[in-house]
Amino acid sequence: MKIGIIGGGIIGLSSAYYLKKSGHEVTIIDQSDLTDGCSLGNAGMIVPSHFIPLAAPGMVAKGIKWMFNSSSPFYVKPRLSLDLIKWGLLFLKKANTKHVTQSAPALKELNLLSKFFYQQMANELPFDFGYHERGLLMLYQTKEAEHEEAETAAMANDLGIVAKILSSGEVQQLEPDVKVNCRGGIYFPGDAHLTPQQLFVGIKEYLKTHGIKYITRQPVTDFVATREHLNSVVCGQEHFSFDQVVLATGSWSGTVAQKLNLALPMQAGKGYSFTLPDVQKNVHIPSIFLEARVAVTPLGRSLRFGGTMEITGINHLVNMRRVKGIVDSIPNYYPEMNVEMPQAEKVWHGLRPCSPDGLPYIGRSKKIKNLVVATGHSMMGLSLAPATGKLVSEICNEEKTSMGLNLFDPERFD
Ligand SMILES: Cc1cc2nc3c(=O)[nH]c(=O)nc-3n(C[C@H](O)[C@H](O)[C@H](O)COP(=O)(O)OP(=O)(O)OC[C@H]3O[C@@H](n4cnc5c(N)ncnc54)[C@H](O)[C@@H]3O)c2cc1C
Repeated sequence: MKIGIIGGGIIGLSSAYYLKKSGHEVTIIDQSDLTDGCSLGNAGMIVPSHFIPLAAPGMVAKGIKWMFNSSSPFYVKPRLSLDLIKWGLLFLKKANTKHVTQSAPALKELNLLSKFFYQQMANELPFDFGYHERGLLMLYQTKEAEHEEAETAAMANDLGIVAKILSSGEVQQLEPDVKVNCRGGIYFPGDAHLTPQQLFVGIKEYLKTHGIKYITRQPVTDFVATREHLNSVVCGQEHFSFDQVVLATGSWSGTVAQKLNLALPMQAGKGYSFTLPDVQKNVHIPSIFLEARVAVTPLGRSLRFGGTMEITGINHLVNMRRVKGIVDSIPNYYPEMNVEMPQAEKVWHGLRPCSPDGLPYIGRSKKIKNLVVATGHSMMGLSLAPATGKLVSEICNEEKTSMGLNLFDPERFD
């Protein structure tokens, strides 16, 4: 079949990878030149440990508290936007224990499937993308965070995800080269990490040499559809026809889907990262500073810090106050690490595609039969990419999918 993928982020590329393996003729259309999207500067964590969706109890109270602090890790800009109001109401409705209990097994399964495919890719692909299985440390300094994490660890172990509660001394033993200041930590030995830029560029080039066609700097502006069939994808004056179309447009998906009369509630969750290029005594295991919500990932000799979730619409403004919040948190956890405030042009930003219930949209549209949706992976798009790509190929091939997809139904808010 001729398959068109709109959006060449890591979800679009992974879909192309598995669709190509199934023998299809694949074209990727992207509005950008694919050199600086959300899939490139992220923290690179592969996280079976992240089975709790963003819409969870406690998030609303934390969000409200953080909104009044200009350097806080989470911020929703109040604005008169119908899309934001609808998204917010759906988030409120889903931020409860029942939703977490229902979603956790599915998120776990999707993450484990993805990790399995990353292991395969690391063996099969002809380039290195810095894949390591060293686990993840969740570091905390307060009693409240310790209590919350102990609950998460218990839930993880119940789900079959190994989580070990460590004292500060035990954490320090795992990090011999960097002094760590924490009350304790939870260690998830089953997590992994990779270098996102190496993966993205590597897979993009690999696909090019394997016959995938790229149409870049071409925004999809419209569609021509009859009742249940998408006839063509419109980029300005040009029309492209495909047997099946995959919608993988990340944070833009809500707007793009509106052109097809599909409700795909989505908000962009902006985050920042900066990378220290050559760290003599580097961190060994990726970590999350829990109170500060900062992710730290060793990428070879460099060290990346990432954080912040700003729901401020689609824009590319860099808020240096929030970057300072990330920088200021570092000596609290690594007291001997002296990190200077990066210059604005050295700060990377990305827009995480956030669905209101914290679950991705993966599945075939019931209204437009030759449309498959793969987006809304929020903080876990890199982690969940290979499994999503594989599932997209199974859906396009009309095969039995590797896991149940009910909770990820793209039309669940229609
Ligand atoms: C600071 C930070 C740290 C993160 N850390 C992690 C991590 O450790 N682990 C993890 O799993 N995830 C992480 N993430 C999240 C992850 O980066 C995202 O979930 C993921 O990149 C989303 O991929 P995507 O392909 O869905 O979207 P994108 O990468 O945004 O790709 C969507 C593409 O669609 C294109 N597009 C949109 N509209 C149109 C249109 N109309 N026409 C044509 N093209 C269009 C865009 O140009 C874009 O290239 C992090 C994110 C941030 C910001």
